[in-house]
Parts: sequence; C-alpha cells; structure tokens
Amino acid sequence: MLHHIARGTKKTVLVAGGAGFVGSHLCDALLAKGHRVICLDNYLTGSESNIRPLMNHPQFRTVEQDICVIEDLGEPIDEIYNLACAASPPQYQADPVHTMMTCVVGTGNLLAMAERHGASLLQASTSEVYGDPEEHPQREDYRGNVNCTGPRACYDEGKRAAEALCFDMLRAQRVDARVVRIFNTYGPRMQPDDGRIVSNLIVQALSGAPLTIYGTGEQTRSFCFVSDLVAGLIKLMEVDPNPGVPVNIGNPGEFTINELAEMVVAMVPTRSQIVYKPLPMDDPQRRRPDIARAQALLGWEPQVPLAEGLRQTIDFFSTTVGARTSGERG
Ligand code: NAD
Ligand code: UDP
Repeated sequence: MLHHIARGTKKTVLVAGGAGFVGSHLCDALLAKGHRVICLDNYLTGSESNIRPLMNHPQFRTVEQDICVIEDLGEPIDEIYNLACAASPPQYQADPVHTMMTCVVGTGNLLAMAERHGASLLQASTSEVYGDPEEHPQREDYRGNVNCTGPRACYDEGKRAAEALCFDMLRAQRVDARVVRIFNTYGPRMQPDDGRIVSNLIVQALSGAPLTIYGTGEQTRSFCFVSDLVAGLIKLMEVDPNPGVPVNIGNPGEFTINELAEMVVAMVPTRSQIVYKPLPMDDPQRRRPDIARAQALLGWEPQVPLAEGLRQTIDFFSTTVGARTSGERG
C-alpha cells in the first residue's frame, strides 16, 4: 500500500474546484492548519466571492484552469483534493458531455499530476454511485442501481469511472489515491441559483417565491453540514495507511423533502406556498449513508444537527438574497 510521502507537516495542497461551495470551505480549513493552498477552478459553478477573503493570504493562490486541459503548476505538490465538478443536477446536466469529461479526463489528468509529484489524491465521489438504491441504508460494498443511459448518467457514471481510475492507480502503486463518497451536503456559500433542494427552499422562502417540491415530496435525503464534511475529507486524506476502499461521508439523519420544507417554513417566516412539480427522471427515492466505515477508520461522525446547520445557512442567504428572516415580511 502506498503511504503519504513525509515532507513535514506543512504541505502544498492543490484544491481543484476550490472556488466552489465545498472547495472554498476546504481551502479555509487547510490554510487554518498552516498549509499552502493552490485553488484551481474554471469558475463554471464556483464563484470568486467564495474565496475573496483568502486573496491576500500569503499562503494562498488561485489558478484559473479546466481540469480537462490542465497544465503543470510550476511548484511541487504534496496533496491534491479533486472537487472539480458541477454537483447540482441542473448544473451538471447543462453540459453533460463536459461533466463526463471532467470526471474521467479531468480526474485522469490530476492523477497523472499526482504521480509526477508523488502526491496523494483524494477524489470527491458521491452517493450517486448508488443510483436509485435498492439497499437501505447504503454501505460502501453496495454496488448500486444506476441508469447508465439516463440524464444523470454523465455524473453518476462519470464519478463511477473516476473511482475505477483511482483504484487502478492505487493498485498499480502509482498514486496514493483515496475516494470519499459524499452524501448531500449543504451550508453557506451555495450559490442562490445552484438548484439543489436546501438552497432552493431557503432562497424561495426568503424571497416569497413558491417552494418547489418535485414529485410527492416523500422521497428522502440525508443532509450533512459542510463543516462536518470538510473535517471528514481532511481525516481521509491524512489517515495512514491508505484505507484502500471508498468511504461514505454523510449525516445518517434521514428526512423526506416535505419534512425539510416544513423545517424551512418554520424557520423563515414567509408568504411562500408549496407547489408540486414533476419528479425528474431517475430521481433516487431514498438515500441514507451507513457511516460505520468512517467511524471505524477515521473516528469521524457528524456533529451539526440539521436544525443548527439550516439556521447558519438561512443566516448566510439572508444577507445574500437581501431579505430578512425576522418575520416583518408580512
Ligand atoms: P460546486 O458546484 O459548488 O463546486 C464545484 C467546483 O468545481 C466549482 O467551483 C466549479 O467551478 C468547479 N469546476 C467544475 N468543473 C470544473 C472543471 N472541469 N475544471 C475546473 N473546475 C471545475 O459543488 P460542491 O457542492 O462544492 O461539490 C464539490 C465536489 O463534491 C464535486 O466534485 C461534487 O461532485 C462532490 N459532491 C458534492 C456533494 C454535495 O452535496 N455538495 C455531494 C456529492 C458529491
Ligand atoms: N428537489 C425538489 N425541489 C427542488 C430541488 C430538488 O423537490 O427545488 C428534490 C429532488 O427532486 C430530489 C431532492 O429534492 O428528490 C434532492 O435534490 P438535490 O438536487 O438537492 O440533490 P440530489 O437529487 O442530487 O440528491
């Protein structure tokens, strides 16, 4: 099994997708640990505003590149986190070919860079590799139920192929590759037009727009606050030896979309009414992570309950959307 190359505790870390929602929080956390951070992004779904507070940090720099056509960065790299990929269904389906290429060609390019530098690489995979799961909750040894020709395939199959690439490079002892399967994560710095459920409901409630629920709203998801996810990503990158298997990171609390909407309405006084819209094709019916592996290998489990995480997310969007949450909105 490949191990981290010992280069002292202060490392140079490349965060691909570092201007995105999760990536920008990861950049914050890595800088706080004393590492040097290079944020690489093509700003497809990320935003310069997410990393603006870091711009004057002496250990931080940005590179505008697409991982599909990446060039060398001109300095040694110790660790690579690959978070570069649109994550919201409407965003990754807007240019599905680019999404698939980002997952396969882009991850291949970053693995080649990791090999050249002797760097460890952590690949952000997804609970979507389980598709519309027939086993519940989802353990890492469940092989999934993905429609390989449907509208979600560019993402689901792209991420599955990226996992295969990582484990091939690991087995060949070419790259110390690690794979995290991330379950639905939310928090401050999601884009208001991101399109995922938590940001949609909060932005709609704050602005008085109809709350859109797709299908019956009885489908479930498990929502992890971003600080918990970032702690898990860093633990998986740092654990020695490399576990050699994918690791679920998510919050096992499971809620229907109707329950989530009720929580948001209770926390954001609003005139908004719920409107039901058609369920998108291949939308998974149930999702909940089994996190026994993360607990055993990383000593990780989530700390932030949904109500607390929603409060912080609502506070963030209250400023972004420019609306108040105090109930004066009539
Ligand atoms: P996001 O869309 O906010 O961030 C993705 C970032 O990657 C953006 O800054 C975007 O501009 C950048 N990017 C996209 N394609 C790129 C390319 N070809 N080259 C360079 N940069 C590119 O999404 P997020 O929620 O922060 O997700 C981050 C990662 O975590 C993604 O890989 C996603 O698949 C994975 N993930 C997230 C969740 C979640 O719930 N947030 C769940 C499962 C997996
Ligand atoms: N969803 C919804 N209204 C929205 C956005 C999403 O009802 O405005 C539903 C969506 O159909 C899915 C769930 O909420 O069943 C989670 O969707 P999201 O896009 O956040 O994540 P994913 O489907 O990738 O888990």
